[in-house]
Amino acid sequence: MSIRRPELIFPSEPTLEGAGVHLRRGVGHDRGLIERFDPFLLLDDIHSKNPENYRAGFPWHPHRGIETVTYVLRGEVDHGDSLGNRGAIGSGDVQWMTAGSGIVHQEMPQRWDGDMRGLQLWVNLPASHKMMSPRYRDVAAATIPECRMAEGVTVKVIAGRVNGCEGPVTDIVRSPTYLDVTVSAGGTFTHPTVASHTVFAYVLEGAATFVPGDPRSVSADHVVLYGNGDSVAVAPGADGVRFLLFSGEPLREPVAWRGPIVMNTEAELERAFVEYRDGTFIKEGRHP
Ligand code: FE
Repeated sequence: MSIRRPELIFPSEPTLEGAGVHLRRGVGHDRGLIERFDPFLLLDDIHSKNPENYRAGFPWHPHRGIETVTYVLRGEVDHGDSLGNRGAIGSGDVQWMTAGSGIVHQEMPQRWDGDMRGLQLWVNLPASHKMMSPRYRDVAAATIPECRMAEGVTVKVIAGRVNGCEGPVTDIVRSPTYLDVTVSAGGTFTHPTVASHTVFAYVLEGAATFVPGDPRSVSADHVVLYGNGDSVAVAPGADGVRFLLFSGEPLREPVAWRGPIVMNTEAELERAFVEYRDGTFIKEGRHP
């Protein structure tokens, strides 16, 4: 067994997105890191007590070539799309969407009395699946298993498997692991990871060291990109830690990325934007 060590540790970056949403971008702001995070493209973190920071939301916009996983920790996000889906993602709920050949949707965080927080992960689709049929699913909070592991270690399994617990999000093409891990002071989270996978963490609350004996304590709103190895071990500081852990097999394909559309070549990108202008972007469903 070789334990993974943090290779990069950096804070998420304040970013203005959508129609004026103030969020923090954990992954995706530095194009030089696309290969290092492959197959993951982006991780955005909306976190605010002030609704003015997020209420403008993300009005109608297209996606193609990716899958998105939206996880609302606290709050409510209204959603509608070109497949005819309409609904709200509430506290603890997850929504995943395969944009595939094309979806046009809107995501509108609603006024929330308190500390709203929601995260969105983008997972790249392989070239063979970029133009697959779009699909969408809501995953209710109650269906996400909460696994008690070692003393003081609790894991909500959104995708993947921990001990006997399997997450409900099973149809993301790249089959990533997505865990929401809480460790209280004195506990240690250990988890096997496939050696060939990209593994990274994002700290939500508290602080921890991400390899035993590491002098670096990593605090909230920081990304930890792991180097090679076949397991991870995380030990929290005095106030415990809550973090997200992601693991996935890299695609190792060229990435052509503009805004909400991620393809393999510039020509494919160009075609997508021309189609969007022409009204031929949506292959299944109806442009809203
Ligand atoms: Fe979107």
